[in-house]
Amino acid sequence: MNESDEEMEKARIIRDPVCGMPIEPEKAKFKAEFGGKLYYFCSEYCKRRFFERPRIAYFSMEVGIKSEIPTYSGGLGALAGDTIRSSADLKIPLTAVTLVSRKGYLKQKITEEGEQLEYPDEWAPSEYMIPLPPIVEVPIEGRKVKIRAWLYEHQSVTGGVVPILFLDTDVEGNTPEDRGITDFLYGGDDRYRLKQEIVLGIGGVRMLEALNFNVAKYHMNEGHSSLLTLELLRKNNMDSDKVKNLCIFTTHTPVEAAFDKFPYDLVEEVLGDLFPIEVLKKYGGQDRLNMTFLALNLSKYTNGVTKAHMEYSRRLFPGHHIMSITNGVHSYTWTSPFFRELFDKYIPGWANEPELLVRVGPIPDEEIWEAHMKAKRHLLEFIKEKTGVEMDLEVLTIGFARRATAYKRATLIFSDIERLREVNKIGKIQLVFAGKAHPRDIPGKMMIKEIYGYIKQLKDEIKIVYLENYNMDMAAKMTSGVDVWLNTPLPPLEASGTSGMKAAHNGVLNFSVLDGWWVEGCVEGVTGWAIGPRPDEPIEEKERRRRELKDLYNKLEYLIIPTFYERRDEWISMMNNSIGKVAYYFNSHRMMQRYATEAYLL
Ligand SMILES: *Cc1c(COP(=O)(O)O)cnc(C)c1O
Repeated sequence: MNESDEEMEKARIIRDPVCGMPIEPEKAKFKAEFGGKLYYFCSEYCKRRFFERPRIAYFSMEVGIKSEIPTYSGGLGALAGDTIRSSADLKIPLTAVTLVSRKGYLKQKITEEGEQLEYPDEWAPSEYMIPLPPIVEVPIEGRKVKIRAWLYEHQSVTGGVVPILFLDTDVEGNTPEDRGITDFLYGGDDRYRLKQEIVLGIGGVRMLEALNFNVAKYHMNEGHSSLLTLELLRKNNMDSDKVKNLCIFTTHTPVEAAFDKFPYDLVEEVLGDLFPIEVLKKYGGQDRLNMTFLALNLSKYTNGVTKAHMEYSRRLFPGHHIMSITNGVHSYTWTSPFFRELFDKYIPGWANEPELLVRVGPIPDEEIWEAHMKAKRHLLEFIKEKTGVEMDLEVLTIGFARRATAYKRATLIFSDIERLREVNKIGKIQLVFAGKAHPRDIPGKMMIKEIYGYIKQLKDEIKIVYLENYNMDMAAKMTSGVDVWLNTPLPPLEASGTSGMKAAHNGVLNFSVLDGWWVEGCVEGVTGWAIGPRPDEPIEEKERRRRELKDLYNKLEYLIIPTFYERRDEWISMMNNSIGKVAYYFNSHRMMQRYATEAYLL
């Protein structure tokens, strides 16, 4: 049986969505319809549990469930998707709430000069989801804006299912302007964003209620949805203790300047008098409505997304009790078909128990290398198809892809062009870039343009491509098909980062600044390499920048290139470590098991 047959076979088994027991539909006594689909149960108990048991309502402005549904912009959305995927696999009773973002984030085209052009990324919800009957309303600028929800059910082969509600204001009876509130993810100005956050936070709570979901906890994935706390206050007679016990907040931002904030005059204009201004100021801050403060002040459990990020957050929010649950990625989703096959052969059960990847050791080197070369060939074919550039299968290939924004420092490797040329003479390298800039992020766009300049400048020496329109499918190809995954954020701005975890699942070695997750993942020379000092080394910023550049070039020249070309066995043993010492831990199954025991059951 080949892989796809096997997958179809697995998919054909019908399972009880609560306990996971296989069911034969013809003989099933207990069944019920939910969201237009028929579900089968082993018992009356499971059937009742499915509809009545308390659920976690997971709120996220962006959700990356698949590339065809472009309602995400980057890591936050990919994380939300992985949260949903792991929850379904583990049968954690979770319901996700997000916006439908009918015109997506943006479709990116880049001109020959490196100018980013943006187009709407329109998609049709009706192709993937079913519209649910209830309509709820929220007050916006004195009007009653109607919201409906589209239901997407993410189903796991284990039987588990997570419903995702995509909120939509494109409803008959709304003004044309209001119909557009859920068009663009992160589009428009402050006013537009505030309207979206009203729809997500307040509209989301009302929709869950209209659909009779029994919600045990409200989990805010970043502060965009934190107006939900006020709606809960209102519903609970302003009993803030009660609300706190209902709310969980995951912060993703390590700097104050990046928090979502709205001036109070705007809030009063848009939101009206739904909540008394004293209440807004008490929990959301005196001068402006700060969505992070709101979530923080009304959640019993707050966490950062790595240990380093927890430390920064504790300094940022003195007096608050902040924990950490380090991010992870969904192992099966981010492992290439080539490594899936290998893991299936040597580590059966790994997909739903990724900690088993700790036993990757005995897999023969040749088979690891062969799986990697297949993934690399697959990527290089994709690059050729997209750009016409033929990259070399034997050349050390370095990948860099993420949102194109200044702090990610995509151009750091070009800081010293002469040195890069020298390094390339020691052993050849080639570079693959991708990433979208937010339409209003001028420095982010400049960075893309700069890279286009370097591509031209170095065209006779180093093959470099910039792939247009970065999305999850491309992320999967890139993080599995390159040899080294480069990550050069400006510390402490990368709260976590997750693409390097995807790379690790595919035996791709991380070469990264010690920020976010890599502080926990890096064992120098064993699981990958560090760029620059540890965050707790007490040195000046200038010295830090100098050490980063020194490591970047020196490690490439003296460690990475020689190991790749001359000590292939050592390289493969590091690939093995990347899987067995990194991927086994940095996965979203472990992450969700921790949310379940530390936050959801609190
Ligand atoms: C995983 C992923 C990211 C996250 O990138 P980091 O910079 O590592 O946080 C961003 N965008 C897409 C499309 C992804 O799949």
